[in-house]
Amino acid sequence: QGSHYRFFDPDLYVAATARVQLRHSLQVAVAQQADAPQFELYYQPRVNLATGRLCSMEALLRWHHPELGMVLPAKFIPIAEECGLIGAIGRFVIEQACRQLALWRGAGLAIVPVSINVSAHQFGHGGVHAHLAMHLARHHLSGAMLEVEITESAMLAEGVDVRGELAALRELGVRLHVDDFGTGYSSLAQLQRLNMDVLKIDRAFTSELTVSPEGRVLFQAIVSMAKALDMEVVAEGVETAGQLAALIALGCDEGQGYLFAAPLPVRQVGNLLARPQLM
Ligand code: C2E
Ligand code: CA
Ligand code: CA
Ligand code: CA
Repeated sequence: QGSHYRFFDPDLYVAATARVQLRHSLQVAVAQQADAPQFELYYQPRVNLATGRLCSMEALLRWHHPELGMVLPAKFIPIAEECGLIGAIGRFVIEQACRQLALWRGAGLAIVPVSINVSAHQFGHGGVHAHLAMHLARHHLSGAMLEVEITESAMLAEGVDVRGELAALRELGVRLHVDDFGTGYSSLAQLQRLNMDVLKIDRAFTSELTVSPEGRVLFQAIVSMAKALDMEVVAEGVETAGQLAALIALGCDEGQGYLFAAPLPVRQVGNLLARPQLM
């Protein structure tokens, strides 16, 4: 007996099995989304640091797994990208964000733009802008009501006409954000060539801001360069009043983070839109 099992690593086995099961339940969830939805969008406010007002909300995907409960995107987005489900999930996100904006507007609320996350795999299929244009038109929304966030690595993806897709989105009036700036290898010159409107500085830089003088200098340098290239700057992961004060002193345009609010389910967003003064 024993020799058969010599190379059997129970931990690896459990991890691989969990992944296969997760992929399977992801397929089921996508197939059933129309009838028994398991995916839901949460919305996290972004705040204008000069006025203290809500200026936009980022749509963040949540998966309510029938047995595991809430699964966060870091866990299932990579699997969805790997097995080709990201296209369908991405279309749901676009459709749902547009429908929800129309619902809030219909309820008499003053709506603000919603920004959605798009991965390079979605651009590969070329349909992001067509799908977006269709749902904006269906709900009589202007392109200015949607923003698209793309990471540096997605913008530099090989074999995908990212430039063309971004230009088409821009034509619709959609503002383009560089997500997680500072974690990739893009140069600001590349970002400017792609006509990016907004730089979202990764949370890692925000958390260094009040920890060391170097952290502050680095952040300041990013803000100055972005301004020189006519891009707006958003600080991600703002958690403390100290960070907020430092960001205001540095002239950072906008902030997002737990200090203002965590990502909220739809039923809590009504309150937010009705009382958009956040500081
Ligand atoms: P991201 O685009 O960088 O989104 C920000 C993440 O930081 C969110 O995690 C948010 O909940 C979290 N966050 C916000 N404020 C704070 C803070 O003050 N402190 C800390 N520690 N964290 C904060 P979440 O919702 O788990 O999403 C993780 C990532 O999954 C996102 O990172 C994004 O890359 C991806 N993602 C989320 N929704 C979608 C989607 O619809 N499509 C695609 N392709 N990716 C998505
Ligand atoms: Ca994002
Ligand atoms: Ca980010
Ligand atoms: Ca991130």
